Amino acid sequence: MLIKGRIFDIQSFSLHDGPGCRTTIFMSGCPLKCRWCANPESWRSNNIMFSEGTCKYRSGCNICKNSCTRGGLKFDENNRPILNFEICKECSDFNCANACYYDALKYCSREYSIEGLMKILQRDSNNWRGNGGVTFSGGEPLMQNEFLIEVLKRCKEKKFHTAIETSAYQDTDIFNEVMQYVDFAFIDIKHMNRKRHKEKTGVCNDIIKENIVNLAKLQWDGRLVLRIPMIGGFNDNIENIHETIDFMHCNDLVEINLLPFHRLGESKWNQLGNKYEYSTCGDIDKALLNKFQDMFLEEEIACYIGDDTLGI
Ligand code: SF4
Ligand code: SF4
Repeated sequence: MLIKGRIFDIQSFSLHDGPGCRTTIFMSGCPLKCRWCANPESWRSNNIMFSEGTCKYRSGCNICKNSCTRGGLKFDENNRPILNFEICKECSDFNCANACYYDALKYCSREYSIEGLMKILQRDSNNWRGNGGVTFSGGEPLMQNEFLIEVLKRCKEKKFHTAIETSAYQDTDIFNEVMQYVDFAFIDIKHMNRKRHKEKTGVCNDIIKENIVNLAKLQWDGRLVLRIPMIGGFNDNIENIHETIDFMHCNDLVEINLLPFHRLGESKWNQLGNKYEYSTCGDIDKALLNKFQDMFLEEEIACYIGDDTLGI
């Protein structure tokens, strides 16, 4: 099978992406564009990042100076490299990143064959012990569904425990096919209201809800934990929590994870030449989170905050 996958990171000792110790595969591409995204380098499979803090131009480095033949790289009066991201979007050779020893200029993803990735998982499986395994995250892993399904099938042949972190934003047939090979799922729902969902993610939530409803009807035998990234001023209101509770009751869903907003991705927005909207907003009050947790618990829905998901 010649399908290849684009992956922007592989973390071998993940402790919060499913049960036990896991290898998390961060797959490139995402149909959503959440304005607070912590992994914006995943949005496109063809991305260059520039980290000024890592760059050695202050020490006289200019190794990358003549690397770009497209006019994408210039230097300011202090010899600081400046990328023209409009030109870089169309790049196919990324010669500047190849030239930079220090990873200040960095290409965001790598291509993997199925065999290459399985070798890494086989190696890592020695660390997983008991209930660990592999988690497919992103970006949105369902974007590369052909590659994902083939890798998942191989994982099942090897009896690896499989998990996915997904927005479920994909055609229902594809989503259901993927889920056949998945033991554990975190499915994000950023907002119950379709208009509000679209405002901050770029897409409506209809297909996401439909896929969750269908999965519940199919009586899929894995473990499903819904997840809300809690963003101050966006989804941190009682009405949204009530709607989430109703939706969960209607579909016999019993677990939810509230993830408090953080700014860990902020520097990456800058490195990609994009403006980050959440530098001074989005924070979520701990007392409010606790109140939301109580609301779910009162409705007999197990509700976890941050990394405290049961069994993870
Ligand atoms: S990513 Fe491509 S176009 Fe942009 S500076 Fe590097 S080599 Fe030039
Ligand atoms: S080669 Fe890398 S470290 Fe040196 S100036 Fe270019 S980007 Fe900076």
